[in-house]
Amino acid sequence: MRNVALAVLLIVLWAAGCATSPQRAPLPPAITTTASVNAEQGPFQPDANLYLCPNSVITNAFEADPNNRILNFNPVIIVDGKVVMTPVPMNNACMTSGFGQRSGRVHKGLDVKASPGSTIYSAAPGIIREADFSTGFGNYVVIDHGQGVFTRYAHMASFASGVYAGKSIGFGQPLGIIGQSGNATGIHLHFEVLTGNYNTSKRSFGLTARDPLSFPPYGGAS
Ligand SMILES: [Zn+2]
Repeated sequence: MRNVALAVLLIVLWAAGCATSPQRAPLPPAITTTASVNAEQGPFQPDANLYLCPNSVITNAFEADPNNRILNFNPVIIVDGKVVMTPVPMNNACMTSGFGQRSGRVHKGLDVKASPGSTIYSAAPGIIREADFSTGFGNYVVIDHGQGVFTRYAHMASFASGVYAGKSIGFGQPLGIIGQSGNATGIHLHFEVLTGNYNTSKRSFGLTARDPLSFPPYGGAS
């Protein structure tokens, strides 16, 4: 089963790497570590670049070029040498806020904005652990990628069909539509990379949030 999932991922990553669109990331030809999930790959291909949103107040500091393109952005990363994923699981999104201190609190994710109705995709293969609502996150999904690595997608307007806890999901499958449910001032995706042991009482709230932009490129130096 694991070999099948890896083979599917390899084929899709290879195909993505050969895509003609210059807007899409040159994905690596091989992948060695991922969740042991036999689930079909979705249609999503990560964008090669990430830009700061124009006219939005960025409260964290980011290095960007004069065109607002974030420097040293890696569209395909490897988390703790274990799980390959994209840190921006949407197309045509721009960044409104990063991980870290913001207004006296730690912002535990990456905020990106895209047009209303835009689709949010799974950042890596895994098993959906939570598809739920909380007052803070609104409609949110948590995916378990194996080896103690998880991702959270918050403030969705709605879930895609077939998104429920316990479901296996491949890379790049639709999770839902961008929105502003929960505690959100505007339409955006709040995306988290989480690590740790999943505890059935605290669930994803017991995990440690990590900066999605802090990880090395897959295939690069680590
Ligand atoms: Zn956020």
